[in-house]
Amino acid sequence: MLTKTDYNRYLQCPKYLWLNKNRKELAPPVTETQQALFDQGYKVEAYAHNLFPGGVEVKGWYKKGRAETQAYIREGHKTIYQANAMTNNLYAKADILHFNNQTKKWDLYEVKSSTSVKEEHIPDLAFQKIALERDGIPIGKTYLVHINKEYVRQGEIDPKELLKTEDLTEAVNNERSSVEANIPKTLEIIKFKEEVKKRIGKQCDNPYECPFKAYCWKDLPEYNIFNLQRISEKQITQLQALGIEKIADIPDDFEMNQKQENQVVAVKTGKDFIDTQSIENAINTISYPLYFLDYETYASAIPLFDGLKPYQQMPFQYSLHVIRSKGEEPEHFEYLHTSKDNPLPGLLASMKNHIRNTGSVIVWYKAFEMGRNEEMAKLCPEYAEFLESVNKRVFDLMEIFSNQYYISPKFKGSASIKKVLPVVVPELSYNDLEDVQEGKIASLYWFKHVYNESADKERIARNLLEYCKLDTLAMVEIWRKVLRLY
Ligand code: SF4
Repeated sequence: MLTKTDYNRYLQCPKYLWLNKNRKELAPPVTETQQALFDQGYKVEAYAHNLFPGGVEVKGWYKKGRAETQAYIREGHKTIYQANAMTNNLYAKADILHFNNQTKKWDLYEVKSSTSVKEEHIPDLAFQKIALERDGIPIGKTYLVHINKEYVRQGEIDPKELLKTEDLTEAVNNERSSVEANIPKTLEIIKFKEEVKKRIGKQCDNPYECPFKAYCWKDLPEYNIFNLQRISEKQITQLQALGIEKIADIPDDFEMNQKQENQVVAVKTGKDFIDTQSIENAINTISYPLYFLDYETYASAIPLFDGLKPYQQMPFQYSLHVIRSKGEEPEHFEYLHTSKDNPLPGLLASMKNHIRNTGSVIVWYKAFEMGRNEEMAKLCPEYAEFLESVNKRVFDLMEIFSNQYYISPKFKGSASIKKVLPVVVPELSYNDLEDVQEGKIASLYWFKHVYNESADKERIARNLLEYCKLDTLAMVEIWRKVLRLY
């Protein structure tokens, strides 16, 4: 049986399809964050059903689901959710089928949690249409229902405003012959006795991260070409054609941008590169007191509170280390919102208490913190002046690394704090934290803390506070090390 998901896997990488059908055990189990994404998808689909109220839902799968679907069609139902189609080798579960009285055909609506139509949605819809039609269900128009990114929640969620429906009939019809030609090839690949051969490359993360990466990428050397900053598809192909896997083996005349060249030199010499003058110039723009600030945020397809848009990052926690004057020890302040109401008023009131009118606000990746401040200023205008003042005083510590004032081969081409900290301050580690070691998990844990009554709330709160605190403490310690570089 071939499903649209299988077909999409084939389009991403034939080996992905083969592994998924034949060596599924090589993929890690679904993570909590992935499951949370799936759950969001189900919620979006439930809202999409409201666009066509009064439909009947097929509960069964495969033969049972098909029989239910056919029974609903015979009974004259006009809207069917999760309609099943099954031929001798294709299987489809369509999100919504709606009978069009004029064309006497069924219009197909597939629901996605994305905020726009993506390239990969067209073959997805074309596959569904083919499977349904081969099973005797005539399809008229094909639509994609996705999240409207301009929607702003005000009161109860309005599905008509939350969702956008786009008519993709023409694009899907144009894609049809290509999908029909690919289906027999795809079915052949599944049956191969030997593992399909395919070099690793950009397709491993595009359009989705492949779950077999740990398997396919396991033999890569430590400083490999995929660590090269923003390596292009063309560069990967050229280097693979030369049989080059290690950064150290990249020829001197290989075409690269300046940042990539600097990185390669650092790897080849094994030495750190430190531009003391640029570091000093950057540091000289800072003034005390220093506020090291970090937010944790939650974003959901369905906005939780009034004023929020879909997927808008909503801060629910901050950590702040303050160094009042040169050489002083930092003081720590924090806020974690733990109730179901809007976190912003409490969070901002607390922040305003601790961040005064003067001094630099040090963050890691300023686009994120500044973006949140701008959004919060709109949502809570009484704090607009304060947040504007904070944004005017932001200093992005990450730029010391992303601008390559400091390069270490051990950063592996990344300026992420998770890569920089273990190299610059090896005595401090995210690995020592109990459960929460990355932002995505923090976000998930916060949601669990607030909305899951059976969760171990005390433990979750402790883990969240420790994680966010480490983010700002990491900045403080990196800052201290950077000061000693010039
Ligand atoms: S990791 Fe890459 S090469 Fe391996 S199956 Fe996935 S997409 Fe294909």
